[in-house]
Parts: sequence; structure tokens; C-alpha cells
Amino acid sequence: MKHIDEKTINSLINIKVYPREIDEILEKTKLLKRLSLEDCAKLLAVADAKLLKKIYKAAARVKNIIYGKRVVLFVPLYISNVCANTCLYCGFSVNNKLTVRKKLSLEEIKKQTEILLKRGHKRILMVAGETASSDENVNYYIDAVKAIYAADYKGSKIKRVNVNVAPLSVEQFKKLKDAGIGTYQLFQETYHDATYRKLHVAGAKSEPDNRLDAIDRAFEAGIDDVGIGTLFGLYDYRFEVLAMLMHIEYLEKKFGIGPHTISMPRIEPAQGTNYADHGEYPLTDENFKKLVAVLRLSVPYTGIIMSTRETSEMRDELVNLGVSQISAESRVTPGGYEEVVQDNKTVEKQFSLNDQRSLTEITSSLILQGLIPSFCAACYRKNRTGEHFMDLAKPGDIKHMCDINALVTLKEYLEDFAEPEVKKAGYKLIEEAKKNLDAEAIKTLEKMFKNIDAGIRDE
Ligand code: SAM
Ligand code: SF4
Repeated sequence: MKHIDEKTINSLINIKVYPREIDEILEKTKLLKRLSLEDCAKLLAVADAKLLKKIYKAAARVKNIIYGKRVVLFVPLYISNVCANTCLYCGFSVNNKLTVRKKLSLEEIKKQTEILLKRGHKRILMVAGETASSDENVNYYIDAVKAIYAADYKGSKIKRVNVNVAPLSVEQFKKLKDAGIGTYQLFQETYHDATYRKLHVAGAKSEPDNRLDAIDRAFEAGIDDVGIGTLFGLYDYRFEVLAMLMHIEYLEKKFGIGPHTISMPRIEPAQGTNYADHGEYPLTDENFKKLVAVLRLSVPYTGIIMSTRETSEMRDELVNLGVSQISAESRVTPGGYEEVVQDNKTVEKQFSLNDQRSLTEITSSLILQGLIPSFCAACYRKNRTGEHFMDLAKPGDIKHMCDINALVTLKEYLEDFAEPEVKKAGYKLIEEAKKNLDAEAIKTLEKMFKNIDAGIRDE
């Protein structure tokens, strides 16, 4: 696979590490700079409980400096499970004859979005399968993004649509950008060439370099915010993390900027495939926690996204270790926010989900942990994307600006959607958070709060 030097990675996987070295690396992380491959490999090699504790503490510290107490919330919207690829672990794979196929109409997409707006969601991750015609794909994606932005529930609109869809050409990416997407996400699934080829046996996705190059094409098309990811459980997690870092180094060298986000799905059972039960590289909870913390320390300025594939307990722990964005009340079925029936059969989901909590339950759990659920999309609206975002995020500045915006969107949520108990806890949290703001910031906040009380939204 291009840009991925497997020999170097393999030589780093079993690197010897001494406790003193870990202390030195953790000291370096205070500079909030990307770590070298070697340092990252050494952190990944740690198994000793005492040293792991130190890594977790350092990761929590970095997360707090850069992202503060904010956790961004989003909801996935599956628009189609029609797919021409054969990915052996996925329920939407073309060879899965059990899956009932459904491609939502634009009217259905709008209706689904309105259901989500009614529940308080503001940020959507649009997800789709990949048909054999890339023109058909891109036109559908563009119309779907427009349908989502057009949806309206009592004046409330979706602020940002991120997309996780098939790789496109530079020209097609330009069209997708013009539709107003936020982040373009594409997971390499596994950076290990032989494993990639073994698991992606047919369709456009079977060519690993076309997928890797898609990230370059997205940047070339002017999409500033690009998200990468790995499906953990397909190959050795240490190889994947180091390869991901190598990919980031390559992107930074070529484009002067790395990915905006990293997603870290873990393989889940899916209908029509028993891959999850027989995978050779199951990732334990302990190693999963370690890799989240190591990634937070290795790429401190990159958002880390966690989905509802994880249990509520795991997600609650990981937000403290470095995760900065989480999905809420996800349904991984096209039209899944109400029961979907096609040809008299219920449409199946892509894979199983472990965190089934509602948005209300997730926001209240975050609030009770002292974390601030954020629905903010101000960076994107003010064109603070790509390099501009990184310039702000790198020295930790983003936190101060974001604290105000997050508190504003939290108050809007509390006023419009929260149940009395959550509302009470939320206001308590706002009062606590205000103690960390300077006089100028409090003045701005109070002004915006007054406007919310007067009925103004999305200021
Ligand atoms: N079809 C596009 C693609 O494959 O890039 C985008 C959408 S696909 C539904 C989104 C992601 O779902 C994939 O990139 C893969 O990482 C993840 N996925 C597929 N099967 C999964 C499973 N059984 N468990 C967890 N995640 C899975
Ligand atoms: Fe299709 Fe994506 Fe599932 Fe592969 S992972 S079968 S491309 S939906």
C-alpha cells in the first residue's frame, strides 16, 4: 500500500521500552506536538498497569488543554444500504442476500432529518453504500446533503453535514464540497495490504491504493476537513495505529495539514457475516483504551471520534481519555429513525450497536460527569476549517473560543429539548464553566444568553 512502509512498522511493533523512556515521552507530550513513530510505538508497547495509568493521565491532560470539557455530539444518517462492494465484515456487502436494500428518496431523507431536528440534533454524519456508478453516487450524495440542509423543524436547521461515502474523483469531490459538506470521512479499514486484499474481494473498494489516494484527492479538491479511520479488529492494532500515523506524516508533508478527525470503529457482528466472531485480531477493551490515549498524545490537535458501536460505559471512559466527538442514538439502517419497511420486510442494520441511549440520556450522562455536550458548528460557519482550524487548535487556543460557543449551544439545547432534571444539572454546569472564563468572555456569553432567552437561536 502506498505511503505505508510495512517493514519500518513491523520493526517498531515489538520495540523494547524502558519505564524511564515512557516518562521522557510523556514529558514531551506537554509541548502538544505530534509524536514521532518511534515514540508512539514505545507508548503502544506499554503493558505495565502503573505506566498505563501515567499514559491515561497524560492523555486526559492533553485533551483538557486542547478541547476543554467539550464533547461534540452528532448523529449518523444512513441514506442507502445499496452497495456494489464485497467487504467480508459488513452487513451491506453485495453478496449478503439477507439484507433488504433501501435507498431513501430525497423526501424520506428530509423527513428523517426533521425527526432528528425534533430530538435536538444539529450535526449529521451522512453515510451510504457505494454503487458501481460513481456519477450516480456523487449526484445522489449532493442531492441528499441539500435535502438535509433544507429540512426544518420549527425554525431549527442542521448546522453541519459530514459525510462518510465512497471515494470520488477530484472533480466529483469539488461538486460535493460545493454542496456544503463539513468533513469528508473515509476509513482505510486496514493499512495492512495483504489483509486489505483478503477482506475486500470485489468492487471498486478492492483496490487499496485508490482508497488511500482518495484522501489526497479530497484535499486537492479543496475539502479542508478530511477524516481518516481504521476498523479495529481486522489486523494488529499496533500496526494500524503506526500506519495511520505514517499516513498522517505523509499528508502533513504533502498538504501542510493532517486529517481533521480520526475515527476508530471496532468490528461488530453484522447480519450475513460471521467475521466478527472469527476475526484473528480481536481488540480487548484495555488495548482499545490504550490506543485512544496513545493517539490523543500522538496527534493532539486531531479530533477523535467514537461511535455507538461502543458500550455506554466504554464511551464514558474514553471521553476522558481523548475522544472529542461522539455519536448519539444512532440507527445504522437507512430510514432507521422510524421503522423502515421495504417490500413488506424490515430493513436490517449494518452492524450491531452497543450504546442504545437516547440523546437526552447521553447529554445528561455527560453533564453529570462535568462534561459539556456541544452542538456547535461555528468553526465551519466562520471558515475556520483546515489549516485555519489547525492554527487555532495547535497551541490550544481553540478551547477558549469554543467554551463560549459550546455553552451557548448547550443553553439552546437545555431550553428547547431538555427534561427538567437535565436542565437543572445543565445550568449548574454552565455556572461552573463560567468560573473559568475571563470578564470579557462572560460579558459576551451573557449577551448571547439574553438573546436565547428572547427566542434567538443559532446566533
Ligand atoms: N460504504 C462506504 C465505505 O465503506 O467507505 C461508507 C459507509 S460504511 C457504511 C462506513 C464504515 O462502516 C466502513 O468504513 C467500516 O469501517 C464500517 N463498518 C462496516 N462493517 C462494520 C462492522 N461489521 N462493524 C463495525 N463497523 C463496520
Ligand atoms: Fe459497502 Fe461500505 Fe459496507 Fe463495504 S463497508 S460493504 S463499501 S457499505
